[in-house]
Amino acid sequence: MRVRTIRDLSAADLKGRRVLLRVDFNVPQDAGGAVTDDTRLRAALPTIRALTGAGARVVCCSHLGRPKGRPDPRYTLAPVAERLMALLGSPVRFVPSVVGADAEAATRALTDGEVALLENTRFEAGEEANDPTLAAAFARLGDFYVNDAFGAAHRAHASTEGVARLLRPAVAGLLMARELEYLGAALEKPKRPFIAILGGSKISGKIDVIEALLPKVDGILIGGAMACTFYKAMELETGRSLVEPDRIEMAADLMERAAYRLTLPHDATVAPAIAEGARAHAVHRDAIPADEAMLDVGPDTIASYRRAIGSAKTIIWNGPMGVFETAPFDAGTRAVAEAMAEATSRGATTIVGGGDSAAAVEAAGLAAQMSHVSTGGGASLEFLEGKALPGVVALETVAS
Ligand code: ADP
Ligand code: MG
Repeated sequence: MRVRTIRDLSAADLKGRRVLLRVDFNVPQDAGGAVTDDTRLRAALPTIRALTGAGARVVCCSHLGRPKGRPDPRYTLAPVAERLMALLGSPVRFVPSVVGADAEAATRALTDGEVALLENTRFEAGEEANDPTLAAAFARLGDFYVNDAFGAAHRAHASTEGVARLLRPAVAGLLMARELEYLGAALEKPKRPFIAILGGSKISGKIDVIEALLPKVDGILIGGAMACTFYKAMELETGRSLVEPDRIEMAADLMERAAYRLTLPHDATVAPAIAEGARAHAVHRDAIPADEAMLDVGPDTIASYRRAIGSAKTIIWNGPMGVFETAPFDAGTRAVAEAMAEATSRGATTIVGGGDSAAAVEAAGLAAQMSHVSTGGGASLEFLEGKALPGVVALETVAS
C-alpha cells in the first residue's frame, strides 16, 4: 500500500475541476512582510504546474506563522501570492478570505488552469482544532483535494486532516509523494550500510528518533551539543557545554543497549563562549576544560565521520554537528554536508531532514547534491520516529 497521488488521477479527474491544494507556504518574511526565502514556494511549483497543465482550477491554501485563530494583517498571505505569481509567471488570484461564500464564489470564477491563493488558514480558530464545520467549509472550495504540505502533515488540522476525510479524491501532491518515497524507502528497504548522523542541541528532541532508528541502522553517529549529555553519562567533564541533566540516565541506558552501533565524537572543538571563536581549540573528549564549552565536533571526529559516510550506501542526517551559525564552529556541519555530497555522487542515497540541517546544507550550496532534502523539519522527524502522520493517513491509498 502506498498513498494515492495526483499521478494516479485520470485526465477527466483533473480537467475543468476545482482542486483544493494544501501547500506549505509558511515562508520566512522580513519586518515589512516580504518573502526572504522562497524555497517552500519553489518546492510546490511542480505540483501546481502538473495540475494547471492538466486543466485543473487550482485553489491553494496554507498556514503562515502563528496568528491566534483570527485575522492578523501581519500574517496575511498577500505577499506570498505576489511571489508565487512571479515564480509561476502567470496570474495568481489572491482571495482575502479563508472560507465562506466569497471564497467559494472566487473558486467558481476560476477558469481551466487558473490559480488562486486563499488567505491564511490559521485566521480561522477551527483550523488547529480540526473543527469539522471548518473542514466542511474547506470541502466546498474544491471538487477534490490534494495535500502537498509535507511540512504540516504531522498536524491534524482542518486543512490537512479534516477536509481530506470529506473531499474525495484526496491524494498526495508530487512533493508529498517524493518526501514519503525517500524517507519511506530509507526506513523500509535501505541499501546497506545504512547510517544515521544525529546532532542538534538537545538529546530530548532526538531520543525518539535514536530509539526508532537503532534497530534499523548499521550505525548512528552523534554530534552537536547532544553528545555532551552522553559524555556526562560517561562521567566526563563537560565544562560549560549544553547538557540536559534530566536525560543523563536515559543517555547511559541508550549507550548500553546500542553498544557499538552508537558512535560519539572522540574529540571536541571548545571555546570559552560562542562569541570567542578566536580562542577555539580542539581537545580530546576527556579533556574538555571546566571553563569552556564543546561547540563543535573536533578534527579527529570529522575525519572518522567522513570515512563512515564514505563507506555507507544510505545516509540520513538530522541535526547540525555544532553551532554552525557561527564560524569556526561550522566546520563539523560543513564537513558532513560535503562528505554526503560526495557520497551522493558515488551512488549513495543521502537524505537531510530537520530545519536547521537543511538550512546548513542550503547555505553550503550543497542542497542539489543530496538525494533528498526534506522540506518538513518536524514532520520528517516524526516520520523517522515511526509515527503516523495524520495528514498522510487521511489520504487515500492504492496497492503498490
Ligand atoms: P534540526 O533543526 O536540523 O533538527 P536542531 O534544531 O535539533 O536541528 O538543532 C540545531 C541547533 O543546535 C543549532 O541552532 C545549533 O547551534 C545547535 N547546536 C549544535 N551543536 C551545539 C553545541 N555543541 N552547543 C550548542 N548548540 C549547539
Ligand atoms: Mg531546529
